[in-house]
Amino acid sequence: SLEQGPEGPETPIQVVLRVRPMNAAELRRGEQSALHCSGTRTLQVSPPGGGPDVAFRFGAVLDAARTQEDVFRACGVRRLGELALRGFSCTVFTFGQTGSGKTYTLTGPPPQGEGVPVPHNLAGIMQRTFAWLLDRVQHLSAPVTLRASYLEIYNEQVRDLLSVGSPRPLPVRWSKTRGFYVEQLRVVEFGSLGSLMELLQMGLSRRRSSAHTLNQASSRSHALLTLYISRQTVSVPTWGRSWPRATQQGSASGCRKRLGHALEVLVEIVGFVTLVGTAPPESPSSPDLPVPQMPPGEPPMGGKLCFVDLAGSEKVAATGSRGELMLEANSINRSLLALGHCISLLLDPQRKQSHIPFRDSKLTKLLADSLGGRGVTLMVACVSPSAQCLPETLSTLRYASRAQ
Ligand code: ADP
Ligand code: MG
Repeated sequence: SLEQGPEGPETPIQVVLRVRPMNAAELRRGEQSALHCSGTRTLQVSPPGGGPDVAFRFGAVLDAARTQEDVFRACGVRRLGELALRGFSCTVFTFGQTGSGKTYTLTGPPPQGEGVPVPHNLAGIMQRTFAWLLDRVQHLSAPVTLRASYLEIYNEQVRDLLSVGSPRPLPVRWSKTRGFYVEQLRVVEFGSLGSLMELLQMGLSRRRSSAHTLNQASSRSHALLTLYISRQTVSVPTWGRSWPRATQQGSASGCRKRLGHALEVLVEIVGFVTLVGTAPPESPSSPDLPVPQMPPGEPPMGGKLCFVDLAGSEKVAATGSRGELMLEANSINRSLLALGHCISLLLDPQRKQSHIPFRDSKLTKLLADSLGGRGVTLMVACVSPSAQCLPETLSTLRYASRAQ
């Protein structure tokens, strides 16, 4: 049976739903729309052949008329950027079946030719965030170093989309200081919006060209572009003082500063949640708000902002139980299933132990700090309006509902 999106307490994962317009082929075939938005947070699904509508609620629901700029605003990505500047790991990922608009939402339509830039008004969340971030860091008092990496996970192999020469599979390792990381991944320092856009174009075109040789690899692969933000000090504007690099562990002033920072982050998150419209106004200090954990002892010095264009979710989201997940994992897409599993464990209020199986896939390893620790995650679930796509759309809606 169809289920309704839960209206429970706020969680560390914000979910926004985007419905793309009917495409030319769907219109030509005269397909009907099975979806309509009511208000800004509810999606109504009309089963073909009658039956009552089913409603799903999300942090925000964006219908086919919403522009790229609308989507950028509604997703509150600037709030995530502010958190990343303060040292947190933030992730934006798009989820949905192939052709539902994941890549369009993150990076806009494919270019009309070699070297032809995406028109400004069609730029996706990524280009808009880049422009915002590069402008934002100019106004910071502390110097910031910005670096980027761009990789693809295909068949549980990591390929560097920015590698010099043809990419080889790279191992994912773990260390106490770095957490999970990709060995020998090229991480490029950039100083301007132009050079960051070039890195994006390089990765995008490599992804596209590999799609021919790897049999539609782009719909079966995850692409992760990560921005690394390093600051000398983290300024705390509310208190008008800066956070020294080495806060003495256990000192009273260190504790006060940590508390001040945690409060500021809480304010940020309440702002973010309010922006995407998910916080009931009467509960700004709800204990369930997604406040990232402060690492013990040391203040965060390096933030991350990661954009993930996930593989097509077809046939994957439909799986239910854990056993089923594990079985399908080998044949379809282990990373996507592991992600769903980690998210459901993270959100399970009954959860007794803190163990989350991030090690089950490359994707969950690389997103571990954002999902499990000092981070905030935004999921943009993408769907087609067509009644023909309804089975996949319902799978996406259920996966997305479970993530909030
Ligand atoms: P996915 O990455 O999920 O496989 P795409 O982003 O490639 O899907 O979208 C499929 C097609 O639909 C592309 O041609 C894309 O440009 C177009 N498209 C997707 N979303 C929109 C939208 N909101 N408005 C206009 N065209 C869109
Ligand atoms: Mg795509």
